[in-house]
Amino acid sequence: MTIRLHNTLTRRVEELTPLDPSNVRMYVCGPTVYDYAHIGNARAVLAFDILFRLLRHEFGADHVTYARNITDVDDKIIAAHQASGEPIGSITERTTKAFHEDIAALGALPPNVEPRATQHIGEMIALVETLLAKGHAYATEGHVLFDVTSMPDYGMLSRRNRDELIAGARVEIAPYKKDPADFVLWKPSTPDQPGWVSPWGRGRPGWHLECSAMSEKHLGATFDIHGGGIDLIFPHHENEIAQSACAHGHGTFAKIWMHNGFLSVEGEKMSKSLGNFITIRDALKQHHGETIRLAMLKTHYRQPLDWTAEGLKQAKSTLDRLYRVLLEIRPIQNAHAPLSVWAASDTTNIHPKFLEALDDDLNSPMALAVLNTIADGLFNDRGSDEGVIVAAAELLRSANLLGLLREDPEAWFKWQPAGAGGGLSDGDIDASIQARLDSRKAKNFAEADRIRKELADAGVILEDGPNGTTWRRG
Ligand SMILES: [Zn+2]
Repeated sequence: MTIRLHNTLTRRVEELTPLDPSNVRMYVCGPTVYDYAHIGNARAVLAFDILFRLLRHEFGADHVTYARNITDVDDKIIAAHQASGEPIGSITERTTKAFHEDIAALGALPPNVEPRATQHIGEMIALVETLLAKGHAYATEGHVLFDVTSMPDYGMLSRRNRDELIAGARVEIAPYKKDPADFVLWKPSTPDQPGWVSPWGRGRPGWHLECSAMSEKHLGATFDIHGGGIDLIFPHHENEIAQSACAHGHGTFAKIWMHNGFLSVEGEKMSKSLGNFITIRDALKQHHGETIRLAMLKTHYRQPLDWTAEGLKQAKSTLDRLYRVLLEIRPIQNAHAPLSVWAASDTTNIHPKFLEALDDDLNSPMALAVLNTIADGLFNDRGSDEGVIVAAAELLRSANLLGLLREDPEAWFKWQPAGAGGGLSDGDIDASIQARLDSRKAKNFAEADRIRKELADAGVILEDGPNGTTWRRG
């Protein structure tokens, strides 16, 4: 199988031919840790989580290196410290931990390497020195700036020329710049700001420099894939290319640049001022992580994604249906343990059409359609028991590759949001079911019916089967 990916550099879908198939290397820009991550951040994490899983499947888990950085020195962090008084180290540790918890709840695999900017200052200073030595940078008033006029093809990723960039006022005008489009590699720190000793005085790195230095350290000067949100194309990724290509020679750095699309909320741009800003943490208070994950994967990663209550409802009902089929075939599976292929490794039994969809620039909507088709088959025509087991294994293994159907089906239907007010606990429900059973044994059917209705009113649905009564939250 060949993986084909859209390359922002060429604006085309291209075959991925790894520089070294025994070590496929991917870098994705990680969070700046000053606040809880929002659902737009989650979209980027999940888009590249799918790619990471696919690369591991195609090349082997030991043959992929995924680096995603933590930006733990940045003006936004300094601003958060000034606003709250909380020490910077405490802000970055606390929000890094929260980020890890939040994306783990969405089923995102941890990257192989998670470099922190503050642990790579030496590499950043060395990179600035290389750029100075090669005539691509200049030091002035405690700053070191990248000289964009030294790079004739600056703008190759965003495909804007310098005049357009300046006219768009997307560059900061400052008196110490030779050219308005020049950008900061290193800047001075005041005594109350975090800073490191450098040949240009005590200071700190610019954000773009951080990623160029960390990707080189962990993946080499040239690697296969660089990813991030579409909003990072300019200036962040453009400037990463400028730094790395000018330091190491053109044609180096990432071969394929991938960008996920924007996320809006109920048709509007998400912003704190509009009051529609949703952190991953907020979303997880109401929805299971898999529901959020599926709600994102229903849209192709390059398309704009509109986050809506309706979309979440649909995602939940799709998952209910997939878990329902797993629950229904469980007796068949249990009756034919020798036929079972369920114990096979995670990467076997993936449906070929499912894999074809993902290999085609991560076509997750198509891949989800394949899952639904397999489920249709299992609902409509059971065929032989062996056929059921094979189809179920395909459903499960394929879904697992997307990070879905990771729950036990019974646990899925019993799940409720953490801290859901007024709901019955699992223990309350089990006790009521036992009381209902006792009433029936005592032929007190009115009481048994009353208990069933009481549970139904609380959103708990009972199902009597040959193996006793099971329940789910409706
Ligand atoms: Zn970056």
